Amino acid sequence: MTTVAEHLESVLAEIVPVEAVTVPLAQAHGLVLVQDVTSPVDLPRFANSAMDGYAVRAEEVSGASPEQPQLVPVLGDIPAGDGTAHTHRTGHAWRILTGAPVPEGADAVVRLEDTDGHPREVMVRHAVEPGANIRSAGEDVRAGEVILPAGTRIGPAQLAVLASAGVPEVTVTGPVRVVVLSTGDELVPVGEPIRPGQIHDSNGPMLAALVRAAGHYAVHAGHLPDDEKVIRAELDHHLDHADLVITSGGVSKGGSYDAVREVLTGSGSMVFREVGMQPGKPQGFGLLGRRKVPVFTLPGNPVSVLVSFEVFVRPALARRAGQRYEPVTVPALVLDGWSSPEGRQQYHRVRLHRDTSGAYAAEPVGGPGSHLVGGLAAADGLAVIPAEVTEVATGSEVPVLPLRPLWEIEGRLGGEQPDGPDSAAAGPGRGRHRENA
Ligand code: AMP
Ligand code: MG
Repeated sequence: MTTVAEHLESVLAEIVPVEAVTVPLAQAHGLVLVQDVTSPVDLPRFANSAMDGYAVRAEEVSGASPEQPQLVPVLGDIPAGDGTAHTHRTGHAWRILTGAPVPEGADAVVRLEDTDGHPREVMVRHAVEPGANIRSAGEDVRAGEVILPAGTRIGPAQLAVLASAGVPEVTVTGPVRVVVLSTGDELVPVGEPIRPGQIHDSNGPMLAALVRAAGHYAVHAGHLPDDEKVIRAELDHHLDHADLVITSGGVSKGGSYDAVREVLTGSGSMVFREVGMQPGKPQGFGLLGRRKVPVFTLPGNPVSVLVSFEVFVRPALARRAGQRYEPVTVPALVLDGWSSPEGRQQYHRVRLHRDTSGAYAAEPVGGPGSHLVGGLAAADGLAVIPAEVTEVATGSEVPVLPLRPLWEIEGRLGGEQPDGPDSAAAGPGRGRHRENA
């Protein structure tokens, strides 16, 4: 049996980032830069006021104090966006607003609250140092400076600096377009009538949502019968445009009903393996078609699908998008121990609570069957149990891979009564930010 780490390594070894594309800034969010971006301009672009106040020469109001305010004639107003070239006149001031260009020759801004605010003759009640309340040109970024190095994922703040510098488009690893296919004669899309023996396709909607939540594009291209010809034709079609394909179902060793495995064995670099994990043992992966599209063939049971996505597909998607993914777990104390199969790394669904000390407590949910979607929906995370462990003791600490954002789990725990005799002492919010611990 292949270990989880070995299978993951062999998958990642075959994945390369999708081709770079140049996109307008409006489409760049979430994508990864393939080149350094330099700023064509200084930021700030021009010296401007950090406050609403009066632009002066510091030395000309050096005697001003609350006891002895200085009366200074005002030349006019400079609002933000004023493009006129204003100049300082000795002994005068301009009334200036935050972000407005500082007039030529002025070297400081007296804050509005240090004056009487008069529009024509202002009482200055405080002296200022030269440079006070002025944001000088280029103090943030110099023209020609690298503002974002290659490899940066463009988030909100990165968009802000690109927009500030007037960079209209960027070259990034392209968006990853994922096709999700469900297979099985028994499957019917939700919303359609169902006959005896049939079930609704739940893997399709779940996988598409997982892909989208990871920041990629997903098309759930429907469900296919256990028919090798149909599966082959549908896959060939998607290999022309998809950047990654995920199928579910039909990969056990059962034989004629495991159509995905049957039809893809020997295709491209496809490898079907038993991976030492629970759930998710039957795994298939390879590159298919002339575009060498990574194809994951996941098992059919919904819990296995979710676990396989977290363990293998998520890191592969990140690499396809030009990123590196490392799973982040949170420690939790086991509320009620369970057993784990020898030689298989177990991913056990748990619901998180807060124990009396403020630590996370992990309650097993969903039972051992990997078909149990009800329990899956109640889980906050997956407790990761190493292959050699066979008993997970009550009270022991386990790493939990969250299945929801931590803020969402914390939000629920904040409204939940902590259990145990010391519950009042624990209080809501205790032990927050444990991810930093
Ligand atoms: P298989 O690997 O095709 O034998 O499927 C294993 C189990 O997962 C069977 O009980 C299938 O009915 C179930 N299953 C397969 N595909 C799906 C799906 N898309 N949605 C829900 N259950 C599925
Ligand atoms: Mg099947």
